[in-house]
Amino acid sequence: MPDGVPRLVSSTLSKADYRNVYELMDTPPLEFDCGRLCQSLCCQEYEPGVGMYLLPGEECMFTGKEPWLKWHYHEASEHGFPPEWDGQVAFVVCRGVCPRNMRPVQCRTFPLAPYVDPAGKLSVCLDYLSGYFLCPLVRNPRRYRLRKQFEARVLEAWRILTKDPLILAEVTACSRKLDEDRNAPWWRLGDG
Ligand code: SF4
Ligand code: SF4
Repeated sequence: MPDGVPRLVSSTLSKADYRNVYELMDTPPLEFDCGRLCQSLCCQEYEPGVGMYLLPGEECMFTGKEPWLKWHYHEASEHGFPPEWDGQVAFVVCRGVCPRNMRPVQCRTFPLAPYVDPAGKLSVCLDYLSGYFLCPLVRNPRRYRLRKQFEARVLEAWRILTKDPLILAEVTACSRKLDEDRNAPWWRLGDG
């Protein structure tokens, strides 16, 4: 993790947990490289300043000296995170290239996102909130069936991640937002 960073949101997860999560998520969504469908749009600067938030504790997977990553820090309370998140959140920008085995959780899970139903049951679903206008796999789920192994391993990884109560709080908040958006008119534009 970088030197001289501000106080980050704390985590109950260990480096071994994150290693396990990274390994579980090291499997592709399709039988072929989905980047061929869109010129790897999710790795491009498809809007100015686009980057990824790391999860609490995920900074343990980085030295902060990776030449392919630029680090920024955002105050959690000013960027829509749950009130339980106290401190700064690491926001990284990659310039569109990375050693694939080092990519963050947010890149590994996409185009799936974790979902917690109102009864508290965890599952994964297509990431409509960030992916609908970006990703052909999200817009066309019947044409591009995700590999079962990808779905199962991403779910397993989120089971580990949501043992952290702060990550569970964020996943729950995003799930309620997704419930609201399910009634939006654009929701019915895809073939899903
Ligand atoms: S996940 Fe979606 S946006 Fe990213 S490369 Fe694959 S098809 Fe393109
Ligand atoms: S870190 Fe790698 S996988 Fe993630 S957006 Fe950047 S280039 Fe793509």
